Amino acid sequence: MTTPRRRTLPCGTCKGEHEHRLLTDEERTRAREQLGRKAVYDLWLCVNVVDPETGRECRTLRLPFVRNPFPTPVKLLPPG
Ligand SMILES: [Zn+2]
Repeated sequence: MTTPRRRTLPCGTCKGEHEHRLLTDEERTRAREQLGRKAVYDLWLCVNVVDPETGRECRTLRLPFVRNPFPTPVKLLPPG
């Protein structure tokens, strides 16, 4: 069975159920640097749009079975 690339999961920042997706290769590299964490294959990113004008997404990270894996919610930094 393959892992679905998108899932609806509760988000620690948005509160409530929102769509999440797995990270791209580039995002995984950044997440390793940002979090100092080697295992990033199972991180899910919240794609809930928090600013409709710019289309900015929430980007809070979580693990499949842990809503708040970090002491405070962590958002993946944007590129650049
Ligand atoms: Zn969210």
